[in-house]
Amino acid sequence: MITNYFRPETIKEALELLSQPDTRPLGGGTWLNQPHDEKFVVVDLQALGLNKIHKAGNNLDIDACVTLQQLLESPECPVALKQAIRLDSSLNIRSTATVAGSLVSGDGRSTFATAMLALDAKITTTTDQSTETSGIGEFLPLRPTGLITKISIPLNFKTAFEMVARTPADKPIVCAALAQWTSGRTRLALGGYGKAPTLAMDGTESDGIDSAAQNAFHEASDEWASAEYRMDVAITLSKRCLEAVSSNQ
Ligand SMILES: Cc1cc2nc3c(=O)[nH]c(=O)nc-3n(C[C@H](O)[C@H](O)[C@H](O)COP(=O)(O)OP(=O)(O)OC[C@H]3O[C@@H](n4cnc5c(N)ncnc54)[C@H](O)[C@@H]3O)c2cc1C
Repeated sequence: MITNYFRPETIKEALELLSQPDTRPLGGGTWLNQPHDEKFVVVDLQALGLNKIHKAGNNLDIDACVTLQQLLESPECPVALKQAIRLDSSLNIRSTATVAGSLVSGDGRSTFATAMLALDAKITTTTDQSTETSGIGEFLPLRPTGLITKISIPLNFKTAFEMVARTPADKPIVCAALAQWTSGRTRLALGGYGKAPTLAMDGTESDGIDSAAQNAFHEASDEWASAEYRMDVAITLSKRCLEAVSSNQ
């Protein structure tokens, strides 16, 4: 339950407020406004101006408060990421939910988080002590606290996204996102299960992608599907992603 609300106009002021106990950043509020057992104070980030998308060389810098819909509509957004965002949530949620809030609250069924993991997104977090940038692979399992100000993704690669769900608009039972750089570096992320998407492979080439996909899901059993089913589907989707990036020379 939200017990108090602040809307600072500078990052310095926001950091001072966030240094107080039981105080959380408020992005779009689509998750934070749901009923919660704990009591906490929120610091609304909307007046900080963290809402721009900027191409910097081979990277796309996405401010923390950019909405999923804003990113989806950006001409610079990679096609596979657009596909993953569209599947992540409805237009109403996408128009309000921010990129930072979505990465902090998204679970393993988040198609957005899965695609960002494949793209090796970098997350910039600021505290009153320092500013640090970490890879999404380190960020997702820990979800460290601190104010996220920016998320960067590379643009110099080919990418593909595939998913299996009960219906085309449902959350995935298995989804696969693949990014491949001109050097041959290949990153495969799998979603559809657990508390966070899984990085199945980050190699200098794509050999062994099927066994990487299989190994990543060998314990991925829940009420939606068995691990055996997920392993089979993960292999198929990973190969499809690889074919898609190979045919898109
Ligand atoms: C109907 C509905 C269905 C959903 N289904 C799913 C689902 O199936 N799978 C799934 O993964 N998610 C699901 N979600 C959650 C969805 O991922 C979130 O609602 C949304 O993406 C959160 O974005 P937000 O900007 O609204 O975050 P908020 O609600 O504002 O915040 C979410 C969390 O992120 C933190 N946060 C926000 N901004 C920052 C920042 N800049 N720096 C640091 N921390 C920050 C907040 O403190 C909070 O802990 C669903 C939500 C709704 C409303």
